[in-house]
Amino acid sequence: MTPNFLPSLVNCPFDDPALYVDFLHERRALLFDLGDIAALPHRKILRISHVFISHTHVDHFIGFDHLVRLSLGRALRTTLFGPPGFVEQVGHRLAGYTWNLVSNYPYDFVVTAVEVRPDGSGRSADFRCRDAFRPGDETPRLFPGGLLLDEETFRVRCEFLDHRIPSMAYALEEKNHVSIMKNRLDEMGLVTGPWLAELKRAVLRGEPDDLPVRASAVEGERTIPLGELRERALLVVPGQKIAYVADTAPTEANDRRIVSLAAGADYLFIESPFPEVDAERAAERSHLTARRAGRLAREAGVARVEPFHFSPRYQDREEMLREEIRTAFRGE
Ligand SMILES: [Zn+2]
Ligand SMILES: [Zn+2]
Repeated sequence: MTPNFLPSLVNCPFDDPALYVDFLHERRALLFDLGDIAALPHRKILRISHVFISHTHVDHFIGFDHLVRLSLGRALRTTLFGPPGFVEQVGHRLAGYTWNLVSNYPYDFVVTAVEVRPDGSGRSADFRCRDAFRPGDETPRLFPGGLLLDEETFRVRCEFLDHRIPSMAYALEEKNHVSIMKNRLDEMGLVTGPWLAELKRAVLRGEPDDLPVRASAVEGERTIPLGELRERALLVVPGQKIAYVADTAPTEANDRRIVSLAAGADYLFIESPFPEVDAERAAERSHLTARRAGRLAREAGVARVEPFHFSPRYQDREEMLREEIRTAFRGE
């Protein structure tokens, strides 16, 4: 199966956290945490539709200005999710500049700040460039079960962790993944075309088997029941899952939440700032050790674990941290 989501860390693991998730064949991406993103090419930054911030410690949010600056004068809307207090914080960041020239910009750029609370309530507000980024009206929001975004092909959920302040962990889950078997289409005398994208969407929506589908065939158009197409020409498999866990204290309550959020993920990106020998220092600073991160990845049954957020004090011992998480992940 060709993956639809391509995740990669923007920076080396000693630098600021930011996980870029590119969408295959779509000019779109998601970003998890917004540390320094100067290393991202501009065209990739402009593809970001939604940003999911774990918490607003400076190393997770300093890239905001860069994102805003690049987006000015463009017909874009960027939606950012964050923990309690987030709407105000976004407003303060934007209020730190003078915006008297924005009325000349050809297009309006809109920042939508969405604040999520641990009880599943929240609120959002728009900040429009043409309005000098003054806060617009607030809208109350509800996120049952931590569900933040539910689109046709994927959803994003969050889990609140304790980092002496709330820190949000995220899971991006593709709904079922539908592949077209080209050789089967040929056998059925069908040809590729835009109808296939509509067919995929119908399958993902869970439409009934007897739904008539207008298929492009060699002889022209033919109507075939959805169930027959699914059986003969499609491969439907569970979609990809990517989990992102940033700063979090080494507590059992956090462990349980992380394991449940990341269960069965294809990728778990998880902070691993300290080695186990410095577990005390890690606990004082409300961070995980590499060994704990590896054990959590193992308990969650993920396919791959990618550590990040290494403390700069181990700059010359990157391999030690990587080896520690690998060993714990394998259960050795
Ligand atoms: Zn951090
Ligand atoms: Zn932090």
